[in-house]
Amino acid sequence: MSLYFPKQKNVPALATTAVLFLDRDGVIIKDCNYISDPDSVELLPGVGDALVRAVKAGFKLVIISNQSGIGRGYFSEDDFLKVQLRLDELLAEYGVAVEVAAYCPHAPDDNCNCRKPMTGLVDELSEVLTWSPEQSIMVGDKISDVELGINMGVESWFIFQGCNSEPDTNLIAKLGAHSAIDLSAVVAEIVSQEG
Ligand SMILES: [Mg+2]
Ligand SMILES: [Zn+2]
Repeated sequence: MSLYFPKQKNVPALATTAVLFLDRDGVIIKDCNYISDPDSVELLPGVGDALVRAVKAGFKLVIISNQSGIGRGYFSEDDFLKVQLRLDELLAEYGVAVEVAAYCPHAPDDNCNCRKPMTGLVDELSEVLTWSPEQSIMVGDKISDVELGINMGVESWFIFQGCNSEPDTNLIAKLGAHSAIDLSAVVAEIVSQEG
């Protein structure tokens, strides 16, 4: 299926409440295009420290990512997994790890039900992860990320730092989402809300 568990973690049995759901590309790692080369993986500024802060505040980290580059034939699922492994290494330098990365490998015209903003990946995640909509947050750099968050019933944040940074601020507001410059700014906000 389309769940990736970092090697160093034990699979399932995840009982948790607060989850920080994160888009990957343009939120955690740099790059605007289809990322397939592990050597090109680079954390965006401040992301390592922000994730440490989020984990300390009680959030579990979960990636939800559209990877249509697989379905379009730009790179293989194995390439995707190599990128995830590299990301694990970079996060390990900060002592943090994602619990699981859920990804949609389909192209848009595959008509799947797991491409964001559709909720198929979340349904799949919910089989291995107990999470509370009231305490969880979605962060992304595309409208489809924010729409997924709204569809999930969680507080949703749009960040401007990603590659599609000509956001429709009216639409973001209309969707009921928040916005911030980057992940660090989001984490600063949500951690202060928690007190
Ligand atoms: Mg993105
Ligand atoms: Zn899909």
